Amino acid sequence: MKDALVKQLKVAETILPDDVRRALEKAMDREENPMAKTILEAILKNIELAQKTGKPMCQDTGVIIYYLEVGKDFPLILELNDILKEAAIEATKKIPLRPNTINPWTHENPGDNTGRYIPWINLDLVDGDEAIIHVLPKGGGSEYTCKLWSLSPGLGIKGVKEAVIRTIYEAGGKPCPPIIVGVGIGGGADISMKLAKKAILKPVGERNEDPKIAEVEEELVKKANELGIGPMGVGGSTTVLDIHIDWAHRHPANLHVGIVTQCWAARRATIKVDSSGDIKFLSHNIDLNDIKI
Ligand code: SF4
Repeated sequence: MKDALVKQLKVAETILPDDVRRALEKAMDREENPMAKTILEAILKNIELAQKTGKPMCQDTGVIIYYLEVGKDFPLILELNDILKEAAIEATKKIPLRPNTINPWTHENPGDNTGRYIPWINLDLVDGDEAIIHVLPKGGGSEYTCKLWSLSPGLGIKGVKEAVIRTIYEAGGKPCPPIIVGVGIGGGADISMKLAKKAILKPVGERNEDPKIAEVEEELVKKANELGIGPMGVGGSTTVLDIHIDWAHRHPANLHVGIVTQCWAARRATIKVDSSGDIKFLSHNIDLNDIKI
C-alpha cells in the first residue's frame, strides 16, 4: 500500500492529467499573442520532459493534501493516516520532492514534507470496503492568491461573480496562469474554502451538474479570459483553463465565497484500492506496475 502511494505521488508530480494537458494545447493553438504562445509552448515542452524523465514538472512540488473516500469495511482504515505520512516521507527521498513544510513559529523544516497536520487529510466515510484516494500536491504560488470573501448577503450571486473576477484580476500573473479556479459558495468561512479547494480536483471541461450553475461557470470563464492577464501574466487570451463551483446552504446573515487558485501545474492523481489490495489509477491511463521509483 505504501509503495502504491509513493507511486501515486510520483504520477501526480510528473504526469499532468490528460484533461489539463489538452486544455493547455487548445490554449496554445488559439493564442494570438506571440509571447503568450511561446510561454504555452514552453509549459507543454516542460510537461513532456517531466513525463519522459520522471522528474517533477515544477521545482515547487507543493504541500501534500489528500481527499479520501474510505469504505467503512476497508481493511486498512485505521492504519491509513500513518501509511499516508510514511509515503510522503519516502516520496520526498525517492522522487525526490522539495521539502516544503515549514514550522510557522521556528521556521524549521522537517525536510520530509510532513509536519503538524501535514499531509492534510480530508476523510469521507462511505459504504463498502474500497478506498478512493485523491492526492493534491498544492503549489505555494497559486495558494498565495487564494481568497475568502465574506459578502453582504444582499449582494447575492451578482456579488459572488464580482468577487471571483476581482480575485482573478488581483492575482494577475502570481499564481502561474493559466489557472484553474475553485469557487465555494455558502456554508460558512471554513466550509466555502474547503469546497473551493476540493472543486479544483474536477477535470477541466467538466461542468456542474446543475445547468444554472454550469452557465455561471461558463460566464465566469469567458469574463476571466477577457481580463487579458494571459499565461504567466504576459497578456493573451487564456488566463483560466476552467472554473468549478460548489456550494452549501448558508446562514441567512452570511454569504461566504471561498476562491482557490490552481496553477497550470495542476497536479492531482487518484487511485482506487479494493479490499484484496488491487490498486488502479482512476485519474491517469497508467498501470501501477509501469511506474518506477
Ligand atoms: S504556482 Fe505552480 S507552477 Fe507556479 S511555481 Fe508554484 S507549483 Fe510551480
